[in-house]
Amino acid sequence: MSELLKVTHLHKEFGPNVVLKDINLSVKKGEVVVIIGPSGCGKSTFLRCLNGLEEIQSGVITVDGLPVEAGKRDITKLRQKIGMVFQSYELFPHKTVLENIILAPTKVQKRTREDATREALELLDKVGLVDKKDYYPRQLSGGQKQRVAIVRALLMHPEVILFDEVTAALDPEMVHEVLETMIALAKSGSTMLIVTHEMAFAKAVADRIIFLDKGDIVEETSDVKDFFIQPKTERAQKFLKTFAYE
Ligand code: ADP
Ligand code: MG
Repeated sequence: MSELLKVTHLHKEFGPNVVLKDINLSVKKGEVVVIIGPSGCGKSTFLRCLNGLEEIQSGVITVDGLPVEAGKRDITKLRQKIGMVFQSYELFPHKTVLENIILAPTKVQKRTREDATREALELLDKVGLVDKKDYYPRQLSGGQKQRVAIVRALLMHPEVILFDEVTAALDPEMVHEVLETMIALAKSGSTMLIVTHEMAFAKAVADRIIFLDKGDIVEETSDVKDFFIQPKTERAQKFLKTFAYE
């Protein structure tokens, strides 16, 4: 098993605004790739393209050999290969934690309620939330909601999971519990693409760092430690200077 996710010559624009310019990337099974870069550089758009939520103007994206084409019928098939967790949890407010989590596996994947529930409870237990299974989202803290959203993504057994600034809306004391969950996932061999502004976390979890600026991959390296000591490009140096991290 080599390349799970492959992007070649991806070009994306919104009208006159070119957002992603000739992006090439290939991610292997089990790899954790962290994407960093200034606000507005195209990070969210990139993840949305990978997940078939945005149309692209040119280039090819494949996940586990399956081409990603926004708006195509087999998008359901794709959704089972690639999961995404957003900054704004996107949980259904009128459904309990458990109902939120088992919805897609039972509806889309046609798993039995019993089977989906059994695994959901196992996963909730792992993130310390099994006692909240019958709660509604509004009864949970932001950090708890985000862990529920992660469990929901995991229950689909995706090949790759995308995380878009999943801690950005959380109070500082809740950031840690979500990052710990993601670190545990990374250690268990999940293939992950993570957009984050948490630099200490990025340094700890990344097998590879991608620095994106103005829709360009300006720097890409597997020497993660070195990157955080001294990035090679001036733009990445300038960007990192705006963060305090260890
Ligand atoms: P980041 O996540 O790195 O902050 P985004 O991917 O959200 O950046 O945005 C990149 C650029 O694309 C920005 O200039 C933004 O205004 C533009 N953009 C994002 N989404 C849309 C959209 N739906 N319509 C038009 N422009 C958009
Ligand atoms: Mg964004």
